[in-house]
Amino acid sequence: MARYAYVNGRYVDHREARVHIEDRGYQLADGVYEVVGVRDGRLIDEAPHLDRLDRSLKELRIGWPVARSTLSFVIRELMRRNRLRDGLVYMQVTRGVARRDHAFPTTAVKPALVLTTKNTKRLDLDPGAGIAIKSHPDIRWERCDIKTVALLPNVLAKQAARESGAYEAWLVDGEGRVTEGASTNAWIVTPEGELITRQTDSGILAGITRQTLKKLAGNLQLKFVERAFTLAEAKRAREAFITSATSFVTPVVRIDGDSVGDGKPGPAARRLREEYIRFAAAGELVT
Ligand code: PLP
Repeated sequence: MARYAYVNGRYVDHREARVHIEDRGYQLADGVYEVVGVRDGRLIDEAPHLDRLDRSLKELRIGWPVARSTLSFVIRELMRRNRLRDGLVYMQVTRGVARRDHAFPTTAVKPALVLTTKNTKRLDLDPGAGIAIKSHPDIRWERCDIKTVALLPNVLAKQAARESGAYEAWLVDGEGRVTEGASTNAWIVTPEGELITRQTDSGILAGITRQTLKKLAGNLQLKFVERAFTLAEAKRAREAFITSATSFVTPVVRIDGDSVGDGKPGPAARRLREEYIRFAAAGELVT
């Protein structure tokens, strides 16, 4: 079956999909993106993802490449063409194509829009064995709240994690506090039973899964607190887990080689994963 990508108004064969070499996303990482999860042909949390896209664009003063309703249509059309059941829709907007110069183009340039989809294995209710984390210094800029395609520090952290046998990296600031994962938000459950994730400010990306889980966590007998936690605290935690549009809720069982809790996925992470998967089942059916 042919796989399609959407590139600036056209659905094209994924293998042939191209952008111009002077696209500012390619040369300057001058662009933003979004990833929307898909489960059983249903889009998860489309509206908040598009709200965040709108915010990222505004922060960088990039215009919408098409109307929001058109983007929603393109998302669905691409899912249909690619028969996407489980996986993700990736969308990227850059400032457009212009002669290379750091400053914004002075002539009107149309923002460039690219969408792809990716099939992934359908995530089980059962999280399996859980994942290992490797800590890594957070060397990113001070606007991590913007979902930009400038991801080199995240790339290097993720690669260091993978080379050490871990699945995800947790980024640690100068004071020893975990900010977030390379591509996920970080959570712990303290020995006292508090559910903790870092407050949202310009130091992390405000995850949409994080936001939804915050609402779902109300069903659990845990006190929810938004604050920074240190790596040392995470290692002493009863449980730890990550969240994102593609990993949903995934338990963390090791941090830098040390077991978290009893080294197995804990009850809060399991329960929240189930709640999130139930929530995903209420999304709009597309394919
Ligand atoms: N933090 C970072 C740095 C990310 O790249 C992501 C997702 O890609 C997240 C957190 C999780 O955000 P979301 O739940 O919206 O996928």
